[in-house]
Amino acid sequence: MLVKYADAVRRSPAFGVLSADIAGGRLNHTYLFVTADEAAKESLIKLTAAELFCARHPACLKCADCIRALSGAHPDLHRYPEKGAKIVVADIDALVADISVMSYSGGCRVYVLDKAETMNIQAQNKLLKTLEETPDNAVILIFAANDSCMLPTVKSRVRTIRMGAFAFEDILAALPERIENRRSAAELAHGSFFLAEKIASSQAYREMDALVFDMLSAMTSSPAILPYANKIAAYRELIPEFLGFLAAACADLINFKCGAQYVLNKTRINDIIVIEKNFSINALCLILDKINHSLGRLNLFGNAQSVVDELLFYIVEVKIKCR
Ligand SMILES: [Zn+2]
Repeated sequence: MLVKYADAVRRSPAFGVLSADIAGGRLNHTYLFVTADEAAKESLIKLTAAELFCARHPACLKCADCIRALSGAHPDLHRYPEKGAKIVVADIDALVADISVMSYSGGCRVYVLDKAETMNIQAQNKLLKTLEETPDNAVILIFAANDSCMLPTVKSRVRTIRMGAFAFEDILAALPERIENRRSAAELAHGSFFLAEKIASSQAYREMDALVFDMLSAMTSSPAILPYANKIAAYRELIPEFLGFLAAACADLINFKCGAQYVLNKTRINDIIVIEKNFSINALCLILDKINHSLGRLNLFGNAQSVVDELLFYIVEVKIKCR
């Protein structure tokens, strides 16, 4: 049974939290896993399901329950959205209706709510009551790329686990040998298997990283915003990934200010040394928050151009104000 990056995911602190809760007999009914790493997330969904269904702990990954969980076909594993790329109110209605009936085997039932960042307020409000009164044998696992659009009332009812970056060696091992500049590609991935896969397969991703650093160094006043906004707009459906690169670069600039050894994208160290002088830590933290907020807006409203324009204005404004 092939689960990609299974060893790295099972070694991750995020998986460790759930695993320790099971081992300690203090399993919560609701968890929110926050990760933008789509590739690792797929494995995390399968491996946590196996952990919950298997009679053994840690899960054996060999029994019938494990094999069904890993293939996504366990009869007591329910995954939403049932179709499409967003969670709609009908998905929550289906979950609420199903969770109140008896399980197939009489054992644990697992409900996976994927892409939770796409839930609108109505869907989140519908989910609230079920989060409060989850039946004893049911576990709801919510997965979100970011939690900026989640209602505080939802967040307060779930145990939130943030998936951190994976080790450079794990990412490097996941990249095929044929990749040119394999070590640089692994650094660019910032600990994300999803980004590593994308960087390996697409030139656009490698260009985006260059554009991020060019923009951070050269975009110093309002007239410089428009040309960059147009360049970013050309990436169309890859704009969330561009914002991911931008967030990673800001995080690295903060890391650098705390000590050069913490920088993840070491191939960009010369750019970082030049750019960091122009931003205070406070400015970088504000920009990171704004990027997170922008990603949330992209998920909900989808008007990429206005989100990007507003973000770029904010970057220039904050850069000047925090000087
Ligand atoms: Zn098993």
